[in-house]
Amino acid sequence: KKWEKEDHIIEEKVARYNETFDADVPFAGYPLSPQTQRGLRRYLPEECTPTPIQQQTIMLALQGNDILAAAKTGSGKTLGFLIPLLEILWSNRWTQIDGVGGLVLSPTRELSMQIYDVLRKIGLKHDFSAGLVTGGKSVEEEAKVISKTNIIIATPGRLCQHLDQTHGFTLDNLKAFVIDEADRMLDMGFQAQVDQIISFLPSIRQTMLFSATLGTQTSKLSRLSLKDPKYVNVNSGS
Ligand code: ADP
Ligand code: MG
Repeated sequence: KKWEKEDHIIEEKVARYNETFDADVPFAGYPLSPQTQRGLRRYLPEECTPTPIQQQTIMLALQGNDILAAAKTGSGKTLGFLIPLLEILWSNRWTQIDGVGGLVLSPTRELSMQIYDVLRKIGLKHDFSAGLVTGGKSVEEEAKVISKTNIIIATPGRLCQHLDQTHGFTLDNLKAFVIDEADRMLDMGFQAQVDQIISFLPSIRQTMLFSATLGTQTSKLSRLSLKDPKYVNVNSGS
């Protein structure tokens, strides 16, 4: 079977998930899958160290925690959730036939495409399928492949449409759920749709909520979606 020859690598990495890493440790020193390490080397210069938000979220997420993270635009939040998302599926020995294992919600099609591009690069060496569900294609075209897509990057409106209409599409086995740009999501009026999506998710899952800012709206959303989250805030003065 596919995963048998990788079992010992998975066990070896998972055994190191409780380690902590100083700011000067490059990604190469982290207990990440060989596939993600290779993807990262293609995306960033070899000697790159994680940004502060990445340094503070990645190991907490690998330990299985829900995460509530705030850091300003440009601080590297994308890898802060995409690296754990890939590692969660990998360590769960996810295969193409297991359906949707990871979901990232983002407020706009453009932001979704940016996340998708990073995922394509750092996830290249993994066997997972990934797809955009943002209204860029017809609903029918998306419906044909959505149930077989391992990692979905979606805007709330279009995903709700599939949850309503697409026969056989469920999120019942989802392992990792990410809400990116939570503050903007709520500013744009997506609260009801995000709530609806959450109602379709299994209660046993890992959730990561990333935002530029944390306000009363995001704290309401975090209460609804996160279990006993770890808070990470790298915005100075707050
Ligand atoms: P945010 O989502 O917080 O606005 P992004 O994830 O879009 O930030 O990252 C901003 C930029 O920083 C991107 O160009 C990305 O490639 C780059 N970047 C991300 N992580 C690192 C890192 N560890 N080292 C150097 N550059 C990075
Ligand atoms: Mg971002």
